[in-house]
Order: sequence, then structure tokens, then C-alpha cells
Amino acid sequence: VAETPNRKRVLLKVSGEALMGDGAFGVEQKTVERIAKDVAEVVRSGTEVCLVVGGGNIFRGVAAAAKGMDRAQGDYAGMLATVINALLLQNALERELITTRVMSAIHMSSVAEPYIRRRAVRHMEKGRVVIFAAGTGNPFFTTDTAAALRAAEMECDILLKGTQVDGVYSADPKQDPSATRYDELTYMTVLSNQLSVMDAAAISLARENRLPIIVFNIGEEGSFGRVMRGEGAFTRII
Ligand code: UDP
Repeated sequence: VAETPNRKRVLLKVSGEALMGDGAFGVEQKTVERIAKDVAEVVRSGTEVCLVVGGGNIFRGVAAAAKGMDRAQGDYAGMLATVINALLLQNALERELITTRVMSAIHMSSVAEPYIRRRAVRHMEKGRVVIFAAGTGNPFFTTDTAAALRAAEMECDILLKGTQVDGVYSADPKQDPSATRYDELTYMTVLSNQLSVMDAAAISLARENRLPIIVFNIGEEGSFGRVMRGEGAFTRII
């Protein structure tokens, strides 16, 4: 892809759970392939895309700490889980003939490049999809915060959070059928009403950097492309 000024640059956060598909744990290959296809479609439309991938489908530090594990140690294990997911996504994207680079916040030079901001920007300018692995590299953070951080560093136009529901609801739509979806919310509403979209650190970072967040259902085939065209259901946080 040629370098074009004013091309849109977006960061897509893919949660670990999104990779489970119908499974209860780990990775469902066909789901990873389908998400890669959706990302490839958006890349081919001329958008610069980078990804932050979670690890909750494999390991979560908080959950391990609740069972007695040292929190920081558990968090490091969680960050390594995101590297596994990143490698799987990279493979699926390359099968779609998309050029990718995995950049890890934890040095792992045999499998991924170290995260260097200026180098990541350069990759993106060349049309490569950069997959940011290992979160922020610090325990006590989440990959949602890593997504807001990297999106700010890459000067992205939008941060998209792919979840299992098509936006932010007034209540859990799976439990409460009267729950309604918000089309638009402010960062402050999300923070003060403690709406469970992203953790407060991520929302605050996005707010400080005037980074719009779009929450959508990544479980639906082609949804990433639709949201990029302004179609389909989603919630915008501005
Ligand atoms: N994690 C961390 N620091 C970070 C990002 C992630 O310690 O900057 C750890 C944390 O233990 C977390 C796990 O990695 O539970 C997996 O990430 P996350 O829960 O954010 O993944 P997701 O919910 O998106 O699947």
C-alpha cells in the first residue's frame, strides 16, 4: 500500500475472549481466521490498522490472584498469553496476504520485535498491520489501557473495541431484555456511571487525548468493515 497523507489510522482492540468463538477457553481457529479476514478487508479499503490483542481467553492475573497467586506474577503470565494470541492473529493475517509485525512490550526477540514507537509508526506508514503484544508491559494494567495508550502513541483517529455485544447497554442485555443500547456516550458518563466498557484508566487516557472510542460486536462477520463505513450497530464514546 502506498503512503497516502490523511489516510485514516485506527487501532482495533481484540479481546482474548473474542478469539474463543463458541469455546469456553483458548482459541478457536476459525474465529481467528474470520477476524483476520475482517481486518484484511479494512486494510484493503485503505485504512491503516494496528491491533492490540488481549489474553483473557488464556490467563488473567486478577483471576489468578483471587485464587492466591501473586498478582504481579499472574499479570506477567497474562501478558505472555497476549503474545500467544498475537502470533496466531499474525499467522491468520499473513494467510490473507497482509504484511504484519508483532511488537511486544516485553522483550522476546526470537518471536517479536521490541516495541519502539517510532518504528511502529514507520511500519504503519508502510501499510503494515502492527500487532501490539504484551499489553503495556506492566502488571496491574489491562490490554484496554494498552489499547488506549498505543492508539494515542500512534496518533490514531479512532480506538475500536471489539466485544461480544454490539455496543454499550443500559444494563446487561443478556440478563435484562429491557436494556437499551446507547448510540453515543461521553467519557464522563462512562466514568461517573461506571459503565463496564473499558477500565477507567483506558477511558481517562482516551479522554485526555480526545480519542473517540467505538464499541461494537466483533463476533459478527464483517462488522469491523461496517463500523468503519458508519453502518450497523455500535456505541460511540466521545
Ligand atoms: N496484563 C497486564 N498488563 C497489561 C496488559 C495485560 O498485566 O498492560 C495482564 C493481566 O493479567 C490481564 C492479562 O494480561 O488479565 C490479559 O489481558 P486482558 O485481561 O486485558 O485481556 P482481555 O480481557 O482483553 O482478553
